[in-house]
Amino acid sequence: MNRRSFLGWTASLGAAWAALSRRAAAAIAEGPFEVTRTEAEWRAMLSDLQYAVMREAATERAFTSPLNDEHRQGIFHCRGCDLALYSSETKYDSGTGWPSFYDALPNAIGTMEDRSLFFQVRTECHCRRCGSHLGHVFNDGPRPTGKRHCINGVSLVFRPA
Ligand SMILES: [Zn+2]
Repeated sequence: MNRRSFLGWTASLGAAWAALSRRAAAAIAEGPFEVTRTEAEWRAMLSDLQYAVMREAATERAFTSPLNDEHRQGIFHCRGCDLALYSSETKYDSGTGWPSFYDALPNAIGTMEDRSLFFQVRTECHCRRCGSHLGHVFNDGPRPTGKRHCINGVSLVFRPA
């Protein structure tokens, strides 16, 4: 094996490993969904960060979303398909650094078990219409539901009422 093919081989091995570990780390809902797009279409309409979060289940850095401080009345829509997902009426300040809600709008989200962290089973949540990853649902929220929907702001588009 010459040096060039060795470099090519290690590069492709590295890419394969990166793809594998990304898959292992990400819990992405499989569908089928009403709204579907090719990977190229998703990449064309989303920023790199939006793509990583919505299509690969990455997590935005805490306290980076302007929606943390969004306190107006209105509706939070899916950035992927514009479905209305959360109302400002259920938004609260969880102190976590991510937009948090104690409930979703009716028939807005889907959930599944996320075992990507080896020490914890979490409930992943995604848009029920296009499958885009939103965040996770925890059981330490306020009344009346006791749930905390911990949502990546980049997955949402806010429309004031
Ligand atoms: Zn959607």
